[in-house]
Amino acid sequence: MFCPECGAQIPDGSKFCSQCGRTLKTPQRTSGEPQRVSQTTPSSPKKTAGTAIASLVLGLVGIFFGLITSILAIVFGGVALSQINKSEGEIGGHGMAIAGLVLGIIMTIIWVIVLIAMGTLFMWQM
Ligand SMILES: [Zn+2]
Repeated sequence: MFCPECGAQIPDGSKFCSQCGRTLKTPQRTSGEPQRVSQTTPSSPKKTAGTAIASLVLGLVGIFFGLITSILAIVFGGVALSQINKSEGEIGGHGMAIAGLVLGIIMTIIWVIVLIAMGTLFMWQM
């Protein structure tokens, strides 16, 4: 039989899939066709855009490391979104790219405020 979740071949009558761990309540022998992830379903993206991951990571890192990483998060987020839109469902990570982009924008604003505040304080001490 085949796992309905991941399509891996598993021993007949298995209680759960050894590949993905999904519990199999009713082992059906009638459906012999393995449910493979076919090429004709564009609804499920095969891979996540690397730039989207980079954007989110940089956005998170930007909280601690400052302005440049935050700006890079915006850049990567923008690139990721355009890649995802062009791919027409082939590449996923849309939410991740937006999260990175938004995080980057927020952190850039915060860092600019912080740097201006620090600069102002420095000027006053002169
Ligand atoms: Zn499975």
